[in-house]
Amino acid sequence: MEAKDLWIALITRVYDQLLYKQSSVFAGRTDVATVTSWSAPIIWEGTFDSALIDSIYQSQNLTIATTVFALGKYTCFVKDFLESAEEHYFVGFRVHYYLFTDKPESVPVVKMGEHRSLTVQKVQSLNRWQDITMNRMEKLEKLIENELANDADFIFCLDVDTKFYARWGAESLGHLVGVIHPWLFDVPRDQFTYERRPESKAYIPAGEGDYYYAGGAFGGSLEDVHHLTKTCREQLNIDAANSIEAVWQEESHLNKYFLLNKPCKLLSPEYMWRDINTSAAQIKIIRFTNVPKNYAEVRPNP
Ligand code: UDP
Repeated sequence: MEAKDLWIALITRVYDQLLYKQSSVFAGRTDVATVTSWSAPIIWEGTFDSALIDSIYQSQNLTIATTVFALGKYTCFVKDFLESAEEHYFVGFRVHYYLFTDKPESVPVVKMGEHRSLTVQKVQSLNRWQDITMNRMEKLEKLIENELANDADFIFCLDVDTKFYARWGAESLGHLVGVIHPWLFDVPRDQFTYERRPESKAYIPAGEGDYYYAGGAFGGSLEDVHHLTKTCREQLNIDAANSIEAVWQEESHLNKYFLLNKPCKLLSPEYMWRDINTSAAQIKIIRFTNVPKNYAEVRPNP
């Protein structure tokens, strides 16, 4: 293990412990759980000191690879995604965006800050939105395998029909990180929309499961996210061979993966909210949110 990797491994663990201790004494967040039953912190506004965190991480010259996919009409979301990321996402850090699209010619020019860059990769068009979303796992697996080894320390994989409105920074770093789904963060477990058919590899029986995680945002170290994407891609392939598609495609498989491989850090739905115009008492700040869309207009199929 290289010195930098060792430092990252150490600091993320030490920091998780610090944050865990801090979160229990931070005033004002008794309204939400700030730690899981396996001692992973859950990041909410009011549970961390952003200046302290930046001072810990910024000296390390970390690079955060950040992936988005924009196929078909979803290229219309790229400009707002990138411009708002430049304003709020890992400000002061090295960020390398990887945009996968079937229409490279439609990618807008967005002014990037210092040490921030965009690589556009052309991918094949697909006719079903389900195939577009599921196919991401294989593309991410190959990206990490073939290109990222010497180019990034952490990776986040995000939906493109989204926009940043406030800080998303180093408080989100960890070796395996999931985001709690904005529609299912305050409902009982039996209402989680896990895959319930035993024939699917994404199957989670009633009575099991910790959280319902969003498919539109996850991340971690290259090694952990490589294992996640490879496993989900393999499980998706087995399902396809058995002619079954999980109820929420790759999100169902991600939820199964996180059940068996617990994330070391969870991000609250502040990090993937429903819509800037909706609110909930627990959400004190909206950092990153879905943008409303007309499904019939933007998706290639119903
Ligand atoms: N996507 C895309 N083109 C499509 C459908 C989906 O590029 O025609 C990608 C895009 O990155 C999007 C992600 O897949 O953010 C998830 O799809 P979508 O937002 O439609 O799913 P939802 O979150 O609404 O269930």
